[in-house]
Amino acid sequence: QRLNNDFQFLDVGRREPAKKDLTTRRTEFGEIYEPMGQRQAAEQSHRCLECGNPYCEWKCPVHNYIPNWLKLVSEGNILEAVELSHQTNSLPEVCGRVCPQDRLCEGACTLNDEFGAVTIGNTEKYITDTAFAMGWKPDMSHVTMTDKKVAIIGAGPAGLGAADVLIRNGVKPVVFDRNPEIGGLLTFGIPEFKLEKTVMTRRREVFTDMGIEFRLNTEVGTDIAFEDIINEYDAVFLGMGTYTYMKGGFPGEDLPGVYDALPFLISNVNNNNGWAKADDDFISMEGKRVVVLGGGDTAMDCNRTSIRQQAASVTCAYRRDEENMPGSRKEVANAREEGVQFLFNRQPVEIVGDGKVEGVKVVSTELGEPDENGRRRPQIIEGSEEILPADAVLVAFGFKPSPAPWFEQYGIKLNDWQGVVAAEQQQYRFQTSNEKVFAGGDMVRGSDLVVTAIYEGRQAAEGIMDYLDV
Ligand code: FAD
Ligand code: SF4
Repeated sequence: QRLNNDFQFLDVGRREPAKKDLTTRRTEFGEIYEPMGQRQAAEQSHRCLECGNPYCEWKCPVHNYIPNWLKLVSEGNILEAVELSHQTNSLPEVCGRVCPQDRLCEGACTLNDEFGAVTIGNTEKYITDTAFAMGWKPDMSHVTMTDKKVAIIGAGPAGLGAADVLIRNGVKPVVFDRNPEIGGLLTFGIPEFKLEKTVMTRRREVFTDMGIEFRLNTEVGTDIAFEDIINEYDAVFLGMGTYTYMKGGFPGEDLPGVYDALPFLISNVNNNNGWAKADDDFISMEGKRVVVLGGGDTAMDCNRTSIRQQAASVTCAYRRDEENMPGSRKEVANAREEGVQFLFNRQPVEIVGDGKVEGVKVVSTELGEPDENGRRRPQIIEGSEEILPADAVLVAFGFKPSPAPWFEQYGIKLNDWQGVVAAEQQQYRFQTSNEKVFAGGDMVRGSDLVVTAIYEGRQAAEGIMDYLDV
């Protein structure tokens, strides 16, 4: 029964689901938030003001019908809510967990300033998790299959977004990925404490039931030639992500004990989930003084993984101030609670050590004039050098595109930073310079977010269907 109070937000404050206790969080890898109960979900949803022209919807990259599904949850109508949420989002339970809501939907909520934003992300997660628990599955009975089939390279959020829209419109998607499970960085990157791996396993089963075919452990270019794919399918979607690690470009980066962030995170995931191969090295921070360099989501994940691996200490050094960190504020707060020490306005200039890492030389910075992206440039303060003692250093400076060697042969053009050129505004959305090939997600827009990758995959699927005239 819907609680009948239009001014619910005055009586009921914003309340996030409870977090697990800190001892558990510091030692176990599972998700840190307890699930929301039905009453809490209804109460929190009913705080929504149902704004006529909702900012939250506009700020959400997939333009979810947020006030509409909040209303359905406040009425206890989960099955309608889940249908509605899947009209705009292919992985709502994932976005509910990992979107930086403070910068997106919840940051734009009218209640945000004075009363506390509606807990949109957690409600989105609640809707799908509850519906699945009730046995809900997407209804495909009205779909008539066409004779078209599309190859999708990459089972990350971009590829899955494309596959979801295609199958719902009767176009058969076959998804190739070199990894043993779907999800891309959702599975082999983002740690379990933000997104448990069973979430993607469940999604693979749901997608498979819908008619999406997955060919996992299959690297295009190695296990199967792109030539075979482009000849066999009516169109191809590339959602291959960005996998070139950014370097600091300072001395000592190749010392033993210095690791790129992603191999460290993947080794931990593989170790926890039985995906490690015999010759893989598990990178453990147990007993070590760890320094993490960077201030984005990847850096936060390295910090918090090191804590759980029982590092002796974890220090995160970032060259701007806290206000200018690119990562989600919620995750910075979680990292701090779990014991990560932050050093702001510190720029690394050298990793020092005799045969192995012993410390990181940093200089202090102050913020100067804005750069071309409007972010204030850190400027070094003379004579401010100090050494942070370290037994291991994790470098989390972000990712650059990793174009495949076969792109050139098939006329798939790159821009000046090596991203694939595939614009939203083209006649066929997200078509590349090869008319049969479409692309989206990180490899097109540069490393960004799960939800923007989903959006581009979904839009590209619309472009593909226009191109195939189905
Ligand atoms: P990816 O997720 O990278 O997927 C690409 C897929 O393509 C991979 O599975 C790869 O194996 C496959 N592939 C590539 N080449 C081939 C080939 N030749 N043959 C077969 N398969 C191939 N975003 C958020 O919104 N919230 C977060 O909290 C967050 N945390 C992050 C934490 C980390 C550590 C990292 C690295 C990123 C994080 N991000 C986060 C960013 C987000 O994960 C990415 O923006 C998003 O996954 C990009 O999706 P994608 O589909 O473009 O690429
Ligand atoms: Fe908010 Fe992300 Fe969900 Fe959009 S997809 S409503 S931004 S949590």
